[in-house]
Amino acid sequence: MSSRPNILYIMSDDHAAHAISSYGSQINHTPNIDRLAEEGVRLTNAFCTNALCTPSRASILTGQYSHVNEVKTLDDKIESSRPIQSQKLLKKSGYETAIIGKWHLGNDEPSNPQGFDYWNILPGQGDYYDPMMIENGVNQQLEGYVTDLITDIAVDWLDSRDKDTEDPFFLMVHHKAPHSSWIPAKRHENLGIEGEFPEPDTLMDDYDTRSEAVKMTSIRIEDTRKPNLKFDPPEGITKDEKRKWAYQRYITDYTRTIQAVDDSVGTLLDYLDEHGLSENTLVVYTSDQGMFLGDHGWHDKRFMYEESLRMPFLARLPGEIEAGSIATDMLLNIDFAPTFMDYADVDVPNEVQGTSGRKVLSNDAPDDWQTSMYYRYWMNTIGHLVIPNYGVRNERYKLIHYYGVTPEDTGDPSITIEAEWELYDLEQDPREMNNVYGSADYVKVQAIMLAELDRLQAKYKDGTRH
Ligand code: CA
Repeated sequence: MSSRPNILYIMSDDHAAHAISSYGSQINHTPNIDRLAEEGVRLTNAFCTNALCTPSRASILTGQYSHVNEVKTLDDKIESSRPIQSQKLLKKSGYETAIIGKWHLGNDEPSNPQGFDYWNILPGQGDYYDPMMIENGVNQQLEGYVTDLITDIAVDWLDSRDKDTEDPFFLMVHHKAPHSSWIPAKRHENLGIEGEFPEPDTLMDDYDTRSEAVKMTSIRIEDTRKPNLKFDPPEGITKDEKRKWAYQRYITDYTRTIQAVDDSVGTLLDYLDEHGLSENTLVVYTSDQGMFLGDHGWHDKRFMYEESLRMPFLARLPGEIEAGSIATDMLLNIDFAPTFMDYADVDVPNEVQGTSGRKVLSNDAPDDWQTSMYYRYWMNTIGHLVIPNYGVRNERYKLIHYYGVTPEDTGDPSITIEAEWELYDLEQDPREMNNVYGSADYVKVQAIMLAELDRLQAKYKDGTRH
């Protein structure tokens, strides 16, 4: 067997850390994902650099910010000929590479996956039941539930490998679930009791002290579209009651949808055990970004607040990663690609902006490891209206800048947002309910964070204000 480990990278879509029991979830149980926490490491500060499906996926493959890999929004597709992608470099070094499931970086030439020996992807968002999948460029109409199909195809691919090969594998299993419209597998349709899910502390947030950008966003759960919630709210209820009703409806389907993803992790871990692969396979479980689970009265993501910014990240590699460990150092989604390259013993190209987090996973990060991170969400006209923003987060504070939009930016003549700032003290205010930007108590902190924002924008060469 090769001394370089196999890499099994399992990524779901919109699975917030606070819907995983090992992260302290109050709303569901994920025993199989929790196995990775028990047998490996759980990261408490893994962050995305742009909390949206398509851009985060591009950053994960390239190790670059959105403005560098040019995948900033849901409208963008990856230019697949880009040589700096983890799977291409790993393949070149002798890894057998595959991606199965959601790609969401464009499924027409020239944005089809490249650098994979085998690929089988959903077009766009894909369907929960009887999805079309594209296998190495050929459309296949499948029957069944998408999470189970992706799992089965992954197992089949592992089974199809030459049993005598010395080559390690790099397998990306990308689930569509639990992205909206939150449709669970039939076997989970009665899981959990709607009406009895605990509410987050900030469910009834009234956005006092926050920016206009926050007050006017369209991601409030009471405004969620009916295809996602499936039912109309009861008649005659108040606005507050509607938010509570929508929360229960949302979380019931969301948690049920997660359960097949947890089953999938169990199936794949069992496969590794049964085939003697567990000892020499790095297994990662993560999601493309976090998600608001009624926090601040919201669903969706895009904002820089903790629930959206934070990615779940669990990793197991016996002999290197200590079982049951917790790592608090920051790991960004742009660090994933160089981390894979490090395990694969591949030189990291200069164009990669992230840094290998291999030592973070073994709780042995160097003294000069990053203690702050840069975030940027670009203007999207698809889906929900969230005003574009950028900011910086260090271990205690977070500075966010909504740099303003005009009717030309949004295509809506009624929307003009002036530039606004927010500053949060995450130690005093972990729920980010009290914007202290401009407060006399934080003059010094504010200056430090503004300077850090400048430093990181220069470091990552993001000089554009819009
Ligand atoms: Ca997503």
